[in-house]
Amino acid sequence: MNLILLGPPGAGKGTQAKILTKKYDIPQISTGDILRNAVKQATPMGLKAKAFMDAGALVPDEVVVGIVSERIVEADCRNGFILDGFPRTVSQADALSAMLAANGNKIDHVISITVNKNDLLRRITGRRTCRSCGKGYHLEFDPPKTAGVCDECSGVLFQREDDCEDTMRKRLDVYEQQTAPLVEYYSNAGLLRSLPGDEAIDVIQSMIVSILKRDA
Ligand code: AMP
Repeated sequence: MNLILLGPPGAGKGTQAKILTKKYDIPQISTGDILRNAVKQATPMGLKAKAFMDAGALVPDEVVVGIVSERIVEADCRNGFILDGFPRTVSQADALSAMLAANGNKIDHVISITVNKNDLLRRITGRRTCRSCGKGYHLEFDPPKTAGVCDECSGVLFQREDDCEDTMRKRLDVYEQQTAPLVEYYSNAGLLRSLPGDEAIDVIQSMIVSILKRDA
């Protein structure tokens, strides 16, 4: 099963993808995570991507298309994958269809998660991550027991540079302009199902699972 989770930053795509990965035993492919890792390792790709990411802009299509084309042919993708944060432009979506078609493969489902802008801002600007183990927190919805300290490993919590309010506003504009057209794109292809992202995590998860069953 090849699944795309579509939605603005903060809609909960990553959270849902992590649960689905366990349930269906197919990997989550997050281009944002892959890029952040490349930045951390200071690889040539990371060095190229960093300025775009810090500014809340999209990394050039050829970079992310290259990442995904290499990732989806890995062994753990043979039963499918969950794309989280890709595609983000129509040209990425076209490239994805072409790379899948070349292997006789296709996208089976596109699930769009929608959340209003104020809620997204609140969700994202409160996000914190442990620098040591990567565990995620939210200052309001899921705070650590001690402010600034990871419950699991006592690591220091930090805010992603692109999660601050100014950059977040820019990311939401970029979403509206460049990624939202994919809703129509996949709707025209008969693949899109939309869900309200302001429900509880487990409610959204059940909605996704029933869509996947119904459309199987
Ligand atoms: P995310 O964690 O998915 O919000 O991604 C963080 C940042 O990585 C984005 O703001 C972009 O700068 C970059 N990025 C991630 N995925 C893509 C993509 N598919 N196309 C272009 N840039 C991307």
